Amino acid sequence: MEEKSVSLPRESLRQLDLPPELIDHYKSIQRRYSNPIVELRNGVCLGCFMSLASSHKQQVVSSEKGFGICEFCGRILSYEEY
Ligand SMILES: [Zn+2]
Repeated sequence: MEEKSVSLPRESLRQLDLPPELIDHYKSIQRRYSNPIVELRNGVCLGCFMSLASSHKQQVVSSEKGFGICEFCGRILSYEEY
């Protein structure tokens, strides 16, 4: 298993992957948060550390590129399989 590197600029790479319907949302929350795209891990938003409802989590996990919007803080959730 690969060691997780915290210094990897993963967010900027993921930003390029954003589906068009999330780009406007991204721009609006970008002013509010320094980290508008956060990881969804074990059903928890790593921006606000709230646990998503399992149906919402499933929606993000099964979306085409693994993106969703946190229902609590509004950040963009990025789900990736490792
Ligand atoms: Zn959140």
